[in-house]
Amino acid sequence: MNEKMNLTETRLILNKLGVIPNKSLGQNFLIDRNILIKMINEAEISKEETVLEIGAGLGALTTELEKKAKKVYAYEIDKILYQYLKDKFSISTNVEIINADALKSDIPPHDKIVSNIPYTITGPILEIFYYNGENSPVGIMIIENSLSKRISDLKKYKNFSRIGVTFNAFMDLINKYQISRNCFYPIPGIDLALIKIKPKTTLNSFLKEPIKRKFFIEFIAGITPYKNKTFSNSLKLFIKNKPSLALSKSEIIKFIKSNSISDEKVFHKEIDELIATCELLFEYTN
Ligand code: SAH
Repeated sequence: MNEKMNLTETRLILNKLGVIPNKSLGQNFLIDRNILIKMINEAEISKEETVLEIGAGLGALTTELEKKAKKVYAYEIDKILYQYLKDKFSISTNVEIINADALKSDIPPHDKIVSNIPYTITGPILEIFYYNGENSPVGIMIIENSLSKRISDLKKYKNFSRIGVTFNAFMDLINKYQISRNCFYPIPGIDLALIKIKPKTTLNSFLKEPIKRKFFIEFIAGITPYKNKTFSNSLKLFIKNKPSLALSKSEIIKFIKSNSISDEKVFHKEIDELIATCELLFEYTN
């Protein structure tokens, strides 16, 4: 199947189904066979593995996953696409198509997530599936290229962000390839990237407990908007926005001094230091 045929075929099926691609559902269908093969190769799926696909669309990737995995759970929120997939895989012995919002479902255990995910929900997908304890799956996904940059090199001021720091506390980025927007139909307004990610071999013990993990995620979300400020100033602003912490300015200064926390600009901090500081703050306020 060459690329052009793929585009023609995708448009034909969508036309037949009467589906007008929905922007808010991130409906941009992969029409480039080379990218599909690259995803499958990167995924290194064994016959013992269960794979989760979020947003199966017209099932281009699902067809390849079916050949490789023991079991494929393919979620599709769109009723018409779901019905199409249901018919397409009706005789499959290892593909299960589920018509549900993958963000609100009780998802069966799986070893890997392999998906051209709706890029509109990349943040929530990372939060639900990856900012977890130690059992996060390996992921091979297509996400927005600008996001892939933010998780790849935190040393760059531009990349230092909530998503970059949180991601790197939990996960390692193994591979990243930029993909032209022309590989999708309809052509999205942004470039995309194929990423391979895997959970950290040793997760910081502070992040293993749900309450502490939640606190860390809030802490990072609270200070990274002020990355160009000193740590103490960013902390003051974070706490101002989070009244439940109820620390006065002098208590914040005391916290920083008594723990000998260096008061450099937030974006100069290493991830391990941010986790350690967050742990101290958790103890100080609990
Ligand atoms: N994987 C397909 C389709 C990608 S488009 C391909 O590569 O061609 C993204 C798909 O995700 C769309 O079909 C959209 O309907 C679906 N989707 C969007 N939000 C979803 C959600 N919350 N849960 C499950 N599917 C979703």
